[in-house]
Amino acid sequence: MSTIFKKIIDREIPASIVYEDDVVLAFLDIYPIRKGHTLIIPKKESVNIFDTDADTLAHMMIVAQKIAVGITQSLGAPAVNIHMNNGTEAGQDVFHIHLHVIPRYERGEAFVVPKHESYDEGEERECAEKLKTAIA
Ligand code: AMP
Repeated sequence: MSTIFKKIIDREIPASIVYEDDVVLAFLDIYPIRKGHTLIIPKKESVNIFDTDADTLAHMMIVAQKIAVGITQSLGAPAVNIHMNNGTEAGQDVFHIHLHVIPRYERGEAFVVPKHESYDEGEERECAEKLKTAIA
């Protein structure tokens, strides 16, 4: 099912587009965490990292580097966060894959993890083994 981002790709609704090529579009987030907060989306629709082809993902990251450098040069931000929410539980609201590039100005203003977990005895090894087996 198409999302609001498809309407931006098709120019049915406005967006402040800052970069475009054959594969992706980059535009300012309408509700920026910091001014200059940019979203990078592929023109071909997919939901998130789980159904997007590797070449498209790689290209999104190449463009993220371009945007990140542009943000530091044009907006004076010394740092950026690049993140992607994949799935409802991860905070994804728009189900058309997108990378966030967010300017950061102050140490300590980035995302705060309220509480870290710790592994019980043997649990870290077990977790690593499960993951290694799954991706082997
Ligand atoms: P996420 O929570 O990772 O799915 O992020 C979706 C992002 O899309 C949010 O940061 C929204 O502010 C942004 N957004 C939603 N609609 C628009 C729009 N029409 N133009 C620009 N950004 C949008």
